[in-house]
Amino acid sequence: MKKNRMGLTGQVLFGMALGIIVGLVINVTGANSPTSFINENIVNGLFHVVGTMFINALKMLVVPLVFFSLICGVCGIGDIRMLGRVGGKSFALYMMTTAIAIATAILIAASFGIGKGMEQSTDAVFIAKESPPLTQVLIDIIPKNPIHAMANGDMLPLIFFSILLGISMLLVGKKAKGFVEGAEIANEIMMKMVTIIMVFAPYAVFALIAKSIATLGLDLLASLAGYVAVLVGTLLFHLFITLMIVLKVFSGLSPAIFLAKIRNAQMFALSTASSNATIPITMRTVTERMGVNNSVASFTVPFGATINMDGTAIMQGVATVFIANVYGVDLGITGYLTVIIMSVLASIGTAGVPGVGLIMLSMVFSQVGLPIEGIGLILGVDRLMDMIRTAVNVSGDAVVSNIVAKSEGKMDVAIYNDRHVGAIDNSALHIDKMAEKELADTLQKTHDKV
Ligand code: ASP
Repeated sequence: MKKNRMGLTGQVLFGMALGIIVGLVINVTGANSPTSFINENIVNGLFHVVGTMFINALKMLVVPLVFFSLICGVCGIGDIRMLGRVGGKSFALYMMTTAIAIATAILIAASFGIGKGMEQSTDAVFIAKESPPLTQVLIDIIPKNPIHAMANGDMLPLIFFSILLGISMLLVGKKAKGFVEGAEIANEIMMKMVTIIMVFAPYAVFALIAKSIATLGLDLLASLAGYVAVLVGTLLFHLFITLMIVLKVFSGLSPAIFLAKIRNAQMFALSTASSNATIPITMRTVTERMGVNNSVASFTVPFGATINMDGTAIMQGVATVFIANVYGVDLGITGYLTVIIMSVLASIGTAGVPGVGLIMLSMVFSQVGLPIEGIGLILGVDRLMDMIRTAVNVSGDAVVSNIVAKSEGKMDVAIYNDRHVGAIDNSALHIDKMAEKELADTLQKTHDKV
């Protein structure tokens, strides 16, 4: 029984390891040259198709899942004032962890003096995209058209609309009962869909990882070894030390159990490099595996995917020190303080999608007067770094969800402490014959009536 339960995580890990090996073989043998058969048909053909189909499937779930679970969350909260507290606490914790993350990154990177004495030359050109100003971010929280926000997958306006809808349903009261029950059922159905898609993860993770590694510039990785080592080291420090201390201090929950259970979500984040696309898995992990009540998780998870980016902030801290050193610019205390504030603010307005960290970095650079073209230096290794930092981002979202739920008494600690609960086993996709027949009969009856 236990073997089956552990099945999926093991299989995804296996897919990941195999993906690294296959990707490395393609990379090292030079089979990744643009015109080679393998590159055209396997890497950019098969791997690309399988991987992108999977990411699309995850993205497909995000909007309906957030929509229905938030309606249920608001209606099931029991005390509407809790909504304000959950919002306030999670916002404060998200900002606090992001600020700690970047401050740690700057301290570690500065003490290693990375980038000192390095050459400035690079062929890679970074074209800076605009990231939205804070005023616009605030305005955009309120959607002009909720369907447009849903179609675009804009998280903050979607959260706003869903919460308002939930509150309105509460105000309507008894008459809205059918709608509330419908949302509850829709939420459960969406969660099932998450399970179905997760079953395909081992193959997709293999394809995504193999493609990333195959196209990675290994020689670049070596020349940027200092930057990469300090960045990865700080990311791991934040994940295993800082976040775990925050979890223990603020909630008393066991870090060891957290780390064991968050692994699945981390692997999805690593493969997709997108906190947004990982929302369905993070949501499933914190509710079904960690015992966080949906009334908290339905808000904290999508909110965190948008505004909480500890890993990205760490990248910005390390990259700022690195590029400042390469260009021989002394930012001084005020410069670094500006970097910290800018990074925290930038994380609020940018969605958790691949590569967004670089856009935020260009915003920070223009604020402190560092050359934006310097970002070209780290461009070649950014996809790999993006994967790792997204896993840290998602872990931060889950830590805060647990803390807020625990403090609001919206957490089932028995579920949290049960190591096996909620793990996907072979029975996850079992269709109950009786239920199948019942549904067919119901449909037949409705059909006959018409
Ligand atoms: N890919 C990251 C995320 O989705 C953001 C970034 O660092 O680029 O959380």
